Amino acid sequence: MYDFARRVQSIELSQIRKMFEVTNENAINLGIGEPDFDVPENIKIAMKKAIDENYSHYTPNKGFLDLREEITNKFQNENNIKTNAENIIVTTGASEALYMCSQALFDVGDEVLIPNPGFLSYEACVKLSQAKPVELNCLMENDFKLKAEEVVEKINKNTKAIILNSPSNPTGAVMDKEDIKAIGDLSMDHDFFIISDEIYEKIIYENKHYSVGEYSENTVTINGFSKTYAMTGFRIAYLTANEKITSELLKVHQYCTACANSIAQKGACEALTGPQNEVEAMVKEFKRRRDLIVDSLNDMGHECVKSDGAFYVFPKIENPEEFVKEAAKAGVITVPGLAFGSVGKDHVRMSFANSYENIENAMDILRKL
Ligand code: PLP
Repeated sequence: MYDFARRVQSIELSQIRKMFEVTNENAINLGIGEPDFDVPENIKIAMKKAIDENYSHYTPNKGFLDLREEITNKFQNENNIKTNAENIIVTTGASEALYMCSQALFDVGDEVLIPNPGFLSYEACVKLSQAKPVELNCLMENDFKLKAEEVVEKINKNTKAIILNSPSNPTGAVMDKEDIKAIGDLSMDHDFFIISDEIYEKIIYENKHYSVGEYSENTVTINGFSKTYAMTGFRIAYLTANEKITSELLKVHQYCTACANSIAQKGACEALTGPQNEVEAMVKEFKRRRDLIVDSLNDMGHECVKSDGAFYVFPKIENPEEFVKEAAKAGVITVPGLAFGSVGKDHVRMSFANSYENIENAMDILRKL
């Protein structure tokens, strides 16, 4: 028998991906976690040019300097985070950034607070670092927003870090400024790290996005290009933190991937400096679809909060496991809320990263279930 590492045995492959593997081709997929839009044309041109100009070599570990300078400007102008190019690391997706944080910051015996429901990688990363995930309930009665009082209740002497995700996957909730600020203050008073996953920052409809990095020195702010610029396959993201934290994170990055993909970095630089009209058009279309899906589900009697951001809704559904199975049989793929944590047990996640027409058809199918 093979004797595998216990920390890897303690986690499982994502059930969501498994579900897509058994899906029939004609089903309407509302399980998707990426934009159904193409990469904006100016970014494609920049990447093609980078290939022609032979940007085929390793880049600096932290990423090209011009890109890091643009990221610095972005953080300063849009997020009120004062940083500099030395404290930016360009990563292979936000996924790598999360993994780097878990390896560099968490230890055996540490407790790490994670949102419930939350993105699956958080629990897995915490377990891979042999720390203990502690769940923070994000309840429907609060529109799934994480509240600072919930954090206060879960803090103890072993609390090493908290992972925040606003706008949220899987609920689309956008946290309120007062909670963000209060959690920032708590991290300073109780001396724990904040890992702030802001990957859906630009996909926001009603509320306003605030970065906790503005309020707490202990923060690692993660953002990227996968969702905003529909660049999931290019695997490109970035983080910033203070100098001490960045130096530790860099060690993991250096030995894990050495540097992010050179061509994707050139595309990322264009993404930040070029026109944003395609992003704006995408968000406008997402909002139209959100209104359709929220109204349709509420009409059907499935109580559904209007998501403020991201491209997910998280309706309350009677018998969700059965619903997901029946919906799949009828031709609509959804994801049981329980996959994202116990608070999701009476819910189903549906993504509106699918065309308006497909969502209309999907809603017609669900109406008949
Ligand atoms: N964080 C959240 C909340 C996500 O939903 C995702 C992808 O679904 C990621 C991070 C991973 O992003 P990336 O493609 O940059 O690795």
